[in-house]
Amino acid sequence: MVSSFNPTPRTLMGPGPSDVNPRILSALARPTIGHLDPEFIRLMDEVKSLLQFAFQTKNELTIPVSAPGSAGMETCFVNLMSPGDKVVVCVNGVFGTRMADNVRRLGGQVILVEDEWGTPVSPEKLRATLEENTDAGLVAFVHAETSTGVRSDAKALCAIAREFDCLSIVDCVTSLGGIEVKLDDWGVDAAYSGTQKCLSCVPGLSPISLSEAAVARVQSRKSPVSSWFLDLNLVMGYWGEGQTRAYHHTAPVNALYGLHESLVILEEEGLEKSWERHQDNHLALRAGLEALGLEFIVAEDYRLPQLNTVTIPDGVDEASVRKQLLNHYNLEIGPGLGVLAGKVWRIGLMGYASNPRNVLFCVNALESVLSGCNAHINKGVATEAVQKAYSQGSS
Ligand SMILES: *Cc1c(COP(=O)(O)O)cnc(C)c1O
Repeated sequence: MVSSFNPTPRTLMGPGPSDVNPRILSALARPTIGHLDPEFIRLMDEVKSLLQFAFQTKNELTIPVSAPGSAGMETCFVNLMSPGDKVVVCVNGVFGTRMADNVRRLGGQVILVEDEWGTPVSPEKLRATLEENTDAGLVAFVHAETSTGVRSDAKALCAIAREFDCLSIVDCVTSLGGIEVKLDDWGVDAAYSGTQKCLSCVPGLSPISLSEAAVARVQSRKSPVSSWFLDLNLVMGYWGEGQTRAYHHTAPVNALYGLHESLVILEEEGLEKSWERHQDNHLALRAGLEALGLEFIVAEDYRLPQLNTVTIPDGVDEASVRKQLLNHYNLEIGPGLGVLAGKVWRIGLMGYASNPRNVLFCVNALESVLSGCNAHINKGVATEAVQKAYSQGSS
């Protein structure tokens, strides 16, 4: 007979999921109620306004899609483009290539703006591309590229998209809650995120937000949205305003208790405070990793505090190190993706996992495992470097 599943508790310091706050785990265990229960509808309204706060927007269409971040990506493309449309997609890592794939599968014409992995999207290249493609209607890019640890200048890129009368689609999966995200200030038309990165909730939901202009485009489509489940015209019959909410699909009721709790926690801490915390812990982790002799591959100006991409010491089998961290320390860090596979580790400090205990734990565990495989690292100096960084901290 198969018995109940009881996972070993891990410390999650990879590219997601991140450690889930215990308050969220207990919210998930509360009694399931109906998806049209008046109490549940009150929770839905609160989730919408909490998401408006997290995204810094007044957009009415700000809701969680009942599926992971990838479904939020697909929701934006399937609703905002039609077959034959020209779409400019900026690619500087794995998630940009997925956006381009979405456009191709939906019968659109992809115009790529390509930048090296490990560098941000170039606003100049985007402008030059739009000058040559004045018939494009959409610009898409990733704000925080989790495959490399790079932040692109979302404000500048959205402003250029607007100049050329394009709507913008921005991937905020890893940025939301961890670094500044301001949809209204930046003029973002469609953003999607995920629950399992800096919101530290369980995986499986994708908060999205669409501007008035984006909603107008969805409502005035000539061809129907090709996905029934992701068609926002239908989804809004359930998530929209007013008392007459109609059944569309059964909402993931308990998962939404979890998202609600994670957003309550974010509001209690305050957005700016959360961004500062991510930065402070990043600086301490950086001090420790650099003291060991590891190097960041992303320049400081556009490095993400929540996703630290570092080189692997010569001669070290990176997969074996991750395996030892998991087996001996219950610590998960991430491997490189795509062109960076085998070349880097990606160490996440996302949401609840971004704390001094994890920083010290990770630096010490890495030091011990790397010492065990005779790697060339500087021994016995990392802990002090971390402590020094905290004592000099910005707050
Ligand atoms: C994780 C991630 C996604 C995909 O989210 P899932 O919840 O895994 O589907 C998309 N974009 C970026 C930048 C991500 O980091």
